[in-house]
Amino acid sequence: MRIINPATEEEIAVVAPGDVEATVALARKAFVSWRDVAPGERARLLRLFASKVEEHLDELAQLEMANAGHSEGNARWEAGNVRDLLNYYSGAPERLCGRQIPVANGWDVTFHEPLGVVGVIVPWNFPMPIAAWGFAPALAAGNTVIVKPAELTPLTALKLGEIANEVLPEGVLQILPGHGSEVGAALVKHPDVRKICFTGSVEVGKQIMAACADDLTRVTLELGGKSATILFGDADLAKAAKALPDAVFDNAGQDCCARSRLLVERRVYDEFLSLLKPHVESYECIPLISAEQRERVKSYVDNPLIQAPVKTGKGFWFPATVLAAGERDWNEEIFGPVLSVLPFDTEEEAVRLANDTEFGLSGSVWTRDVGRALRVSRAVEAGVISVNSHSSVRYWTPFGGVKQSGLGRELGPDAPLAFTETKNIFISTEE
Ligand code: NAP
Ligand code: MG
Repeated sequence: MRIINPATEEEIAVVAPGDVEATVALARKAFVSWRDVAPGERARLLRLFASKVEEHLDELAQLEMANAGHSEGNARWEAGNVRDLLNYYSGAPERLCGRQIPVANGWDVTFHEPLGVVGVIVPWNFPMPIAAWGFAPALAAGNTVIVKPAELTPLTALKLGEIANEVLPEGVLQILPGHGSEVGAALVKHPDVRKICFTGSVEVGKQIMAACADDLTRVTLELGGKSATILFGDADLAKAAKALPDAVFDNAGQDCCARSRLLVERRVYDEFLSLLKPHVESYECIPLISAEQRERVKSYVDNPLIQAPVKTGKGFWFPATVLAAGERDWNEEIFGPVLSVLPFDTEEEAVRLANDTEFGLSGSVWTRDVGRALRVSRAVEAGVISVNSHSSVRYWTPFGGVKQSGLGRELGPDAPLAFTETKNIFISTEE
C-alpha cells in the first residue's frame, strides 16, 4: 500500500498488508499469560508504555502530520492523548474488583474476566486517539489487542506497535495493516477474535455488525454524525462566532463530532452570519485525506454563502465553506469543512430540526438561559451534548452515539468493563 502525504501528494512510505492468521494466533498465545499478569504489574507496564509514548511524542506527531496532514497542535495533542489514555487506564487493573454476596451455604462470587483477543478497527481521521480508545482499556482489562489501522493512515499505529513491543510481552498489542474489505473483514470473521471495536462509516459498521452475528462476536460501533449547533438569540453571539469555525472546520471537518449543521434563531440570523463571516474567511483548513474525499466534498458545494480562499497547487485542499441548507448537505455526512445553516423560530422547532436525522452523536446548545440549555440538551437525541462549547471527547467521560451513530460507549471509567465478561462462581461450604 502506497502511503501519501495529503499536503504534498508525495509518497512517504510503502506498507505491506499483515497476515491475519499469524497475528491472531500470536494474540491468542499472548493472552494466556497476559490475562494472568498480576494487576499491579499490568498497571506498571501500561505506565511504562505511556512514558515511552511521551518519549516518542515528537516523532509520533511528525508522522501524523505527514501521513494525515494534521496540524502540529492537533498531532501533538493526539499523541499526548494516547499517553493520557494509557496512564488513565493503567489504574484499572488494580480496581477491576468483583463482588461477593453473603449466603449461608457458600461463597457467591462474581468477577470480570477478560474476553481474549480484541480487534480494534480504526478510520483515517484521528488514527492515534481512536486506536488508543480501544487498546488502552482493553489491555488494562487483560485482553490482547490487534489494531487494524485505515489503509490510508497506518504509520502512527505501526510506530505505536513498535513502542509497545519494547515494553509489553510479545503479541499483547499488534498492528495489522491492510485493506478493510480483505484484512479487516478477515479479522472480524476470525473465530478466535472475541470483540470488535469499530470506528468508521455507518455502511461498514452495519456490515461488521452482521458479520459479528455469525459467532456472536461482541461489537461496539462508533459511526458517523450530522451534529447540530442550536444557537439562540440570547447567546453570546461574538463568542459563538469565534468558536463555531473550529466546531466544524477543525481537521478539515473530518471529525465524526463536527457540528456540520447550524440552526440559528431567525431574529439574529443576519447579525450572526456577519459575525461569523470573518472567522470563516480567515480559517485555514488542513488538507483532506485524499483526492477522492475532496471530490466527494466538492460535490456538495454549490453557491456558498461564505467561503475561505481556495488554495491551489499540490495537496488535497478544500476551503472552509458555509452553505444555506440544501436537501443533500443538510442530511448527509460530508466529512469535509462544510457548514449548512438554517434559521428557526421556536425552541420546539429547533429541537425537531436537530433530531430530524438518522444520526445522534453530538451537538451544541448556545444560550444564556440555563433552563433552556438543560431542556434542549435533554431533548436533543445524541450521545454527547455541550453547552456554549463544542467539546465532545474527554477521555474521563463516556463517549458514543445513539440511533445510527453507534452502539455502545467508549472511554470513561467503565470502558475496561466493556472488554470483560461477567462471571459468577458459587462454592458450596456445606458439609
Ligand atoms: P470506513 O470506510 O468505514 O473505514 C473504517 C475502517 O474500517 C478502516 O480501517 C477500513 O479499512 C475498515 N474497513 C472497511 N471495510 C471493512 C470491512 N468490510 N470489514 C472490516 N473493516 C473494514 O470509514 P472511514 O472512511 O475510514 O472514516 C470515516 C467515517 O468514520 C465517518 O463516517 C466518520 O463519521 C466515522 N468516524 C466515527 C467516529 C466516532 O467515534 N463515532 C470517529 C471517527 C470517525 P480501509 O481503510 O482499508 O478501508
Ligand atoms: Mg472508507
